[in-house]
Amino acid sequence: MFYVQAPPELGNQYTDDRVLRAYLGRVLPRDVLEAIEPSLDAMGALASGELYRDQLADRTNEPRLVQWDAWGNRVDLIEVTPLWRKAERIAAEHGLVANAYELTYGSYSRVYQFALAYLFTPSTDIYSCPLAMTDGAACALIASGNERLIERAVPRLTTRDPENFWTSGQWMTEATGGSDVGLSRTTARSEDGVWRLFGKKWFTSAIASQMALTLARPEGNPPGGKGLALFYVETRGADGRLNGIRVERLKDKLGTRKVPTAELTLEATAAELVCGTSDGVKNIAPMLNVTRTWNSVSAVALMRRGLALARDYATRRVAFGTALADKLLHLDTLAGSQAEYEAGFQLTFFVVELLGRGEAREASPQQQELLRILTPIAKLLTARQSVAVLSEVIEAFGGAGYVEDTGLPQLLRDAHVLPIWEGTTNVLALDALRALSGAKGVDLLHREVGFLLQGVKHPDLIRLSARVEQTLEAVRAWLASAEPVAIEAGARRCAITVGRTIALALLARQAQWSLENEQDARPLAAARRFAAAGFNRLVDMDALDARKLARDSND
Ligand SMILES: Cc1cc2nc3c(=O)[nH]c(=O)nc-3n(C[C@H](O)[C@H](O)[C@H](O)COP(=O)(O)OP(=O)(O)OC[C@H]3O[C@@H](n4cnc5c(N)ncnc54)[C@H](O)[C@@H]3O)c2cc1C
Repeated sequence: MFYVQAPPELGNQYTDDRVLRAYLGRVLPRDVLEAIEPSLDAMGALASGELYRDQLADRTNEPRLVQWDAWGNRVDLIEVTPLWRKAERIAAEHGLVANAYELTYGSYSRVYQFALAYLFTPSTDIYSCPLAMTDGAACALIASGNERLIERAVPRLTTRDPENFWTSGQWMTEATGGSDVGLSRTTARSEDGVWRLFGKKWFTSAIASQMALTLARPEGNPPGGKGLALFYVETRGADGRLNGIRVERLKDKLGTRKVPTAELTLEATAAELVCGTSDGVKNIAPMLNVTRTWNSVSAVALMRRGLALARDYATRRVAFGTALADKLLHLDTLAGSQAEYEAGFQLTFFVVELLGRGEAREASPQQQELLRILTPIAKLLTARQSVAVLSEVIEAFGGAGYVEDTGLPQLLRDAHVLPIWEGTTNVLALDALRALSGAKGVDLLHREVGFLLQGVKHPDLIRLSARVEQTLEAVRAWLASAEPVAIEAGARRCAITVGRTIALALLARQAQWSLENEQDARPLAAARRFAAAGFNRLVDMDALDARKLARDSND
């Protein structure tokens, strides 16, 4: 008989998730955990059942841009796929944005919201993208203090009613620059009391959204980021027609193929100032902090999905007489990825906790500073980890991992956007350096690490704690002594060093807790393995050497 390979299967994605459950058990008060568990359980069942089946069935569908109707009218309609239509409804009903604003669980509301998002994301082909921007827009509007816009948009962005739920876009990138948005050429002109925008936006995801926050330069303003203002745009008027917006085409992308990412022309698009006629880049920052946190959560969620599938497959696939799950070398390979994921998870959810504390007005000034430092660091570290881990996951399936209709290659392709959008690795590394502002930031990290590690008792964890302290000292010394060119050239290595160091401290704390409360030594094994992969990237490297090597010249 012809041999048929057994596909991997998923159990309930909440009850099966040792890492998430141990984390929630440590962090949440018992009554909060008991109150939210039924909904996490329901989302875990959806993610491994109905949504996962729909996702596999939706695999070859893609969003469509319909530019003209049958009668020659330009309509520029975006049709998303059936999976995305369902994802939108489920997201609204389960409060994937709303939970953060209802504040039912005070400072733990963000932990709850992002735990749900982490379960939901891998089965919905990056529907986290519009949700991230929706959450970010609500946050930026609230921070702006613009009462009219808050009243108009925030209840729609944060409702649980799918019929009234709005999503938001974030239109920043132009062909002149996504990192250097100060080069933006979109202009804003006030005509009869209405602001009108003129220009081209080069990457705009979630273009099916009802609104967007965008940047444009009011006429007469100076060049650069300061001269841009933050605008609120509703994409369609009351008659359903686009608001001075032409959708030129959808991007043909490596991954995130369910996300309709468009190029737009703005032709007298009616818009409202969100707060003032300048400082748009500063005013959109609250949105970016939230979308970057969604990015980190998506990165750990995709790693977790890939590893769950690989782990299950290893029990089914037999080679050389035994299941892969019995081969120590295969397990050693998966364990390396598991350790990366567990460390990334702890760092991400630590940022989530800090965000939640800030929004519940319970964060100290030091915790707010810590959030500012760790948001870009968690984003850049977990995004790079997710690409590496999902590459291993593909290999863990052998040839099947390379075959499209297993649904596996898409995991890697989708992960590859995570280091690019919401700030590339290098751009965020420079941002993290600014946030650290030298010794002051390192002092803050030192104090936090002291606090995190104070309960660590296992001898291995005590040894790792000493290495954490030493590495922070190395960061301090490097920031104090390196030349400015070397600091710029080493910004990425510095950010990754800080990220891996703090992630290790967090993992060590979780490991001690799991030893004491669950008699589970697996987080300890993850901490040892994560540390063994190394975390100090601040070896002395000559910035001029980098120039020669990368340009491949002798000058
Ligand atoms: C699928 C997808 C969807 C997107 N959706 C949106 C969206 O909805 N809204 C939106 O506004 N944008 C969106 N983007 C755009 C995205 O945010 C930008 O592509 C990203 O910010 C990078 O900008 P860029 O493409 O101009 O690259 P560049 O800024 O040109 O960067 C090119 C390279 O140069 C490096 N670099 C840049 N500056 C520095 C520096 N100072 N030092 C060292 N290295 C540097 C970068 O790290 C990168 O490796 C999307 C992108 C993708 C791929």
